[in-house]
Amino acid sequence: FMLIAVVIYLVSINWLLTVIAVIPVPLTIVLTNRFGKKLHGITGSFQETIAAFSARLQETFLSIRTVKAFGQETSEKEKADRILSRLTGLYIKNSVTTSLSVNLVNFVSMIGPVVVLSWGTYLIAGGSMKLGALIAFYMLLTYLYSPVQTLASAHVEVQAAMASVDRIFEYLDLPAAVQEATQPVALSRAHGEIAFIKVSFGYPESGFRLDDFNVTLRRREKVALVGPSGAGKTTLVNLILRFYDPESGVITLDGVDLRRLSLRSLRDNLALVDQDPLLFKTTIFNNIAYARPDASLDEVKRAAQIANIHDFITGLPHTYFTEVGERGVTLSGGEKQRICLARAILKDPAVLILDEATSALDSTSERLIQQSLKRILADKTAIIIAHRLSTVQHADRIIVLDKGRIVDQGTHQQLLETAPLYRELAARQLRV
Ligand code: ADP
Repeated sequence: FMLIAVVIYLVSINWLLTVIAVIPVPLTIVLTNRFGKKLHGITGSFQETIAAFSARLQETFLSIRTVKAFGQETSEKEKADRILSRLTGLYIKNSVTTSLSVNLVNFVSMIGPVVVLSWGTYLIAGGSMKLGALIAFYMLLTYLYSPVQTLASAHVEVQAAMASVDRIFEYLDLPAAVQEATQPVALSRAHGEIAFIKVSFGYPESGFRLDDFNVTLRRREKVALVGPSGAGKTTLVNLILRFYDPESGVITLDGVDLRRLSLRSLRDNLALVDQDPLLFKTTIFNNIAYARPDASLDEVKRAAQIANIHDFITGLPHTYFTEVGERGVTLSGGEKQRICLARAILKDPAVLILDEATSALDSTSERLIQQSLKRILADKTAIIIAHRLSTVQHADRIIVLDKGRIVDQGTHQQLLETAPLYRELAARQLRV
């Protein structure tokens, strides 16, 4: 607005001088556009390199034991250095381009007043302009150029920011793997019966498939999934948790298609104890209460007692308020798993999914976990992904999977008699 008003005023003083004064404006626009595009590109590369660097750092720190054990510190450092020097280069390019654009715009804007003053002096000498008019004209020029400069630098900044926005939207625009139903059904307290009916599913990135898969897990049944690695045990759990939807067929909880259930009520009725339990870097209390942040200390303690970890926690320096992780205590695999069990107990779901630890726990941990499981699972449906047969012999039903198909099912004893794959696994693991 200021720009328009000033131009009108300037024209009323002297139109020819105004034309001269306005010439730098389109020049500024052209320059700004070019620099804006350039900065867009540079910022984009800069963001990508920062992402690559963060990924590199995370990977290296997560695998620090392997890096050290294989003596790869120098090569990891060199890889990080290479990304850092690329970053430095981009940073310098970014600074130079920004300064150039700002200063060039300022320079171009200065051409106007210089020409106006010279031409104006000439006009005054010839008597066709008054000194007062030239001074007024000259003063007003500031109001012409300052909005142009502001708009120009805003344009350059916006272009740089747009590069980041583009990257953010690359992720925000990704479709979610599963969608909430338009009118979701809420199941406040499920009985815990799960059924796969003619389910077909495959990961887009790999050749693995489940085809026409059928199975029903009854209420309060303890079902163990066994089979060689890659058989599809985790995939079944991923489908129950609705991390993916089947391509065809249905999976139901208490007879309701999971796709019709609200995600919230589905996941409220399920609890997962992962094979490699991850604890958050906070207190043990917060880690257990993660399932139900409003839980009281007494409730957390009760859950820990059932999970056979209460005594261990009370022996820690700050008991339930001891920090876990980098700044706090380091826990063994068995202790972590019992804390995760306590978290699941506090949630008190209808269905408990337990991905058993792959690495053998020490026998005390194993015994403690088995004891607590017995108590916890009494009133729940349980799905246990068993990596070792020693722990599943008492399951109500063992399902033997291979290549995405159920090859056999039954109790331990039945399977030993009838299922060759199970017998082979048992011979290897239990020396039966
Ligand atoms: P299990 O738990 O029995 O070891 P999984 O269910 O984890 O087996 O995996 C079954 C197959 O599916 C494997 O061959 C694996 O490579 C593949 N797979 C698992 N997860 C994914 C995924 N997110 N994307 C692509 N392929 C996967």
